[in-house]
Parts: sequence; structure tokens; C-alpha cells
Amino acid sequence: MASGPNEESPAAAASPIRVLLVGGPAADVELVRALLEHARQTHVQLRHAPSLSQSFAALDANEVDVLLMDVGSGAPRELVAVSQARVRAPLVPVVVLADGDDESLATKAVDVGARGYLIKCALSPGALVWSLHHAIRNQRMFVELNIARERARQLATYDQLTGFANRSLFQDRLDQAVASARRNRQKLGVLFLDLDRFKDVNDTYGHLAGDALLRMAAQRIATCLRKSDTGARLGGDEFAVLLTNLADEADATRVAEKVLAALREPVSLKGREHLISASVGIASFPRDAGSADELVRRADAAMYAAKAGGRARYAVFSAMQSPEDAERSGREQRLRAALEGGELMLHYQPVVDVVRGSVVGAEALIRWRHPELGVMLPADFLGLAEESDLIVSIGEWVLRSACEQAVRWQRAGHPGFRIAVNVSAQQFHTGDLVEQVRQALRASGLAPDALELEITERSLLSGGERTLDQFSQLRGLGVRMAIDDFGTGYSALAYLKQLPVDVLKIDQSFVRAVATDPADATITATIVQMARALDLTTIAEGVETAEQMQLLASYGCSRMQGHLFSEAIEPPRIADVLGAPPFFWMRRGA
Ligand code: C2E
Ligand code: MG
Ligand code: MG
Repeated sequence: MASGPNEESPAAAASPIRVLLVGGPAADVELVRALLEHARQTHVQLRHAPSLSQSFAALDANEVDVLLMDVGSGAPRELVAVSQARVRAPLVPVVVLADGDDESLATKAVDVGARGYLIKCALSPGALVWSLHHAIRNQRMFVELNIARERARQLATYDQLTGFANRSLFQDRLDQAVASARRNRQKLGVLFLDLDRFKDVNDTYGHLAGDALLRMAAQRIATCLRKSDTGARLGGDEFAVLLTNLADEADATRVAEKVLAALREPVSLKGREHLISASVGIASFPRDAGSADELVRRADAAMYAAKAGGRARYAVFSAMQSPEDAERSGREQRLRAALEGGELMLHYQPVVDVVRGSVVGAEALIRWRHPELGVMLPADFLGLAEESDLIVSIGEWVLRSACEQAVRWQRAGHPGFRIAVNVSAQQFHTGDLVEQVRQALRASGLAPDALELEITERSLLSGGERTLDQFSQLRGLGVRMAIDDFGTGYSALAYLKQLPVDVLKIDQSFVRAVATDPADATITATIVQMARALDLTTIAEGVETAEQMQLLASYGCSRMQGHLFSEAIEPPRIADVLGAPPFFWMRRGA
């Protein structure tokens, strides 16, 4: 705030400062005039307006560099005038001239937009001129900063050629629109639009003409949109339109028809009439897609269908689907609704330590309690989820629920209880699994080494570098990593040594055969021995008979799961198993 003299010489300014003093008694006006005359080095033009409204003409005519407003004792009415002045002439800085030395008044004046504050009894020529200069300089900096900020925002979010949103702003708006449409049960439409044979225009008329054409196309598209819609240029000759709050999905096709008609008007390029057209793909939420990404993919697919269908036309995603595709996307949406509606649940299969004779943890296994079809197993629906992004959301829910459940059991008196969660290969490819795991641990408070993540040997082998890298990161969090269905993927044993894993789960097929097939028995014994040498834990899956259990234990594998001990059961029933006496399965007379 400017209220004191300054070492900096105000004389530097060459052109006169045009000061408009608003309000104040005649004596004060004279005082100000006298002081300014005294400050000879600076050329100041002073005018006086008895009230703010009488200053409007000069403000509107751009004749004022700085407003000096006499606010007297600083009554609220006087301060209101300051903010009115700021609204009327936002670029003209205001310096307040007050009767008394009241700090709270100075603060209030700045709050309503003043850039300086002067007290009448402490006025001097230097202080006055310095304050006026300072306010002007300050204001100029403020304006420049705002311009730079706005420019940076424009560059980051808008396409410079057409003024349309760029890809990142479009993505942002789409994400928000989908979230809000989901909450409010509204419909959305996305159009994907690609100009037909744009390359020919570029090649024939040059890039400048190409740019002009793109600008014109954007202008024409814009005329077909409502204020709440977003037009975007995604790159090259590709545009997208987001239509929010559609009354009906058919409205999206109406907009597409309008856009196509607007583009059909000939354009003049280098003095020649040129016809342009576009191919448009349409997808809508929730009919064609359940997420922003899916919506974009489907509008894109529909756009390609429009191109393939002969260009200069639109195609609607749902209409281009084969009956099988339509059926699948219907089932996919049904599954998404199941996730959101709480129809998915986790059953838990106890993991026992046959040497200690007790339950040491459990594996979470997903189930779908379908209202019509009854309880469905993962084989019936996970494949569908894995073909879309749905597996990422489902996986996140599984992780969160399983971690929370594990903490409940730990708190109920089983501190070392360990939970195993299955992870699909898809989760390593899409979405941020490492972050999901970190969140699930943080939210539940589960210790990382109480969580075991299982990925099948096949997925691991086919997952490549990205999967391995995430494996290492997850292990870095302290989480235990397990290879599921081990033995079915034929990984070279030497390879195992390099993998960042802690646990091997021996596949059911070997376990089933140990008592009947000597070759499988040998393989299984070898796996257990080798795992021991590499300091890995082995867990045998699908143990159904006492004989299998004994053989496996004789090889040195003490951790097991299987129907001999318990199938996968609902959480409340796990409490019975956890509270059961040691070696409870032997007493069952298995
Ligand atoms: P998995 O991880 O190898 O799980 C073991 C499967 O064997 C489970 O089938 C389990 O119920 C079954 N099982 C356990 N003991 C026995 C037994 O003694 N005999 C026989 N015949 N079967 C037994 P489920 O629950 O149908 O799960 C099948 C697969 O689905 C799982 O194989 C796992 O790969 C996958 N899965 C299950 N839940 C999830 C999940 O939440 N996320 C992901 N990504 N995959 C899951
Ligand atoms: Mg498993
Ligand atoms: Mg398995």
C-alpha cells in the first residue's frame, strides 16, 4: 500500500499524470492542488468531480490515469463508491484519501479495490505523487499479469488456429460431463468429425488455404451448437463436439445433420469454389457407452463407419453394431450397473497352514449376485469385464473391499491375517494399478505385507516390460506378489529367479494329479523344492483329498487352499473357520 514517501524519484515519468479527484470539501481540493503544484518535478493534471457520478464522463472517455477518491471518515457509503468506480472503470487505479489514520479502514479500502491509501493530515507533495505513480505502475503490472495468465490458459486449453477447445480441454469437459450426467441421470452426445479428403486441399492449395479451411469449418460447426456444448479440434482435420443434457439421443443426430448441412455450403479457396464435406460418428451416454473413454472410442468407431459408408454422412454407433455387438454392450452395461448397484460381492477361501494347523489368510474371489440368474462365478462375467475398461473399476472395488475386510478380521483377533487378491493382466495395462493399491492400503490402514496380489503365470509372461515394472513397484510398496496357476504357463525355471515375486500358487491341475500321475507328482515336488531354494513360498490350490494334502506336505508345501478345508464362503462364515479348533479339517473325517 502506498502511504509513505519513496526514495525512487517520481520525476521519471515524462507525460503528465491525469488525476481525477472525486468528492471532498473545497478546502481539501485546494490542499491537493497546492501539494501537486509543489511537486514540480512531476507534471500532474488535476481535475475535480464533486461526486462519482460526475466523474463518469471523464472515465468513459478514457481521460483519467488515476482516481483519487476522498472517502472522508470511511463510512460504508463512501467505500461503496470505490467499488462502483472499479466496476465502471476497471483499468483505472483508485487511491483513497481518508481523514484519519485508521488501519482497518485502509484494509477495507484495499478490499474494495483501492491500490493506495493516503491520510490527509500526513500528506506531503512527495507522498502524494509517489502514491499516484505507484498505483498506476501497480495497476499496469496487474493488467499485464492477467493478460499473460489468460494467454497461458488459452495456449494450454484452446486450439490456436480455430479458437475451439483443444484435446485436453475437451477431455476435461467430457470427464466432467459424464460424471454429472451419471449423477443426474442425463444423456450426453459426442460427435467425432473428420473432414473428407482434407489432404487433397492441403496438397492442391497449400497449407495456408488448408488452415483457412479448418478455421471456416470450425466457424460453421460453431453455428450449430448451443452455448453449453463444446466444440473441439483434436488435431489435424479432426473435430469433436460434446452435447450436454440431451433430451433424447436422436437430438445428437439432428445436430450432426445441421453440421453436415452447414459444411456443405461451398467455400472459396484461392478464388475457386470448393466443396467440403465431413464424416461424423455419433455415440451417446449412457446408451452406447458408460464412460468418457468408451464414448470417445465409440464415436471414433462410428466415424470410421461413416467414412467406410461413403463419406459426407454420419453414422450412429448403436446402429452400426452387429446384433452380437449390441448384445455384448448390453451385457457390459448390465455388469456396470451391477458394480454400481452393489450386486457384486466377494467370497473368501481360507488359506491354511497344514503344519501349524490353522487358517493364515484367505483369497478374495468375486461373485455376482444376479437378481434373476442367481450367484454367478467369475468365469461367467470377468471375461466381459476384461474386454472393456470395466475390469479396472471392478478391480479397484475388489482391492478396496478386500483390504477393508482383512483389517476387520485382523482387529477381531487375527493380527497376522493375510488377504490375497486376484489381479487381471488388463489392470496392469490400463489404469494405474500401483496408485489403486496405494489408495486401498491407505484407506483401509492394512499393512502392505498383509496383502498378496495374484497374477496368473500366463498374464505375467505375456505382459511384457510394463507389467514387470509395475510388479517391482508394487513390491516396492511392501506388497507380496504371487504367481497364480503356476505350472500352466511353462515359464523357464531359471526365469523365476529374476522375477520380483514372493509366492508361487501351484495350479489345481498338478494338485489333482499328484496322487494319480507320477509325472505330475515329480513336477510338483520339483516346483516346491525349487521355490524353497529361491526363497519363495508355495501355496497349493484346489486340494480336495487328505491324500493330496499329505503328499504335498511331504514335498515341503505347507500352505494350501481347497475344498478339503473350505470352499470360498461369505465373510461372516469365515469367522467360524477362524475360530475353529486346530486341524479342524481332519476332524471332519475327510
Ligand atoms: P484362481 O485365483 O486360481 O482361484 C481359484 C479358483 O478355484 C476359484 O474359482 C475357487 O473357487 C476354485 N477352487 C478353490 N478350491 C477348489 C477345489 O478344491 N476344487 C475346485 N475344483 N475348485 C476350487 P472361482 O472363484 O470360480 O475363480 C476363478 C478364477 O477367477 C480365479 O482363479 C481367478 O483367476 C479369477 N478371479 C476370481 N476373483 C477375481 C477377482 O476379484 N479379480 C480378478 N481379476 N480375477 C478373479
Ligand atoms: Mg487366485
Ligand atoms: Mg489359481
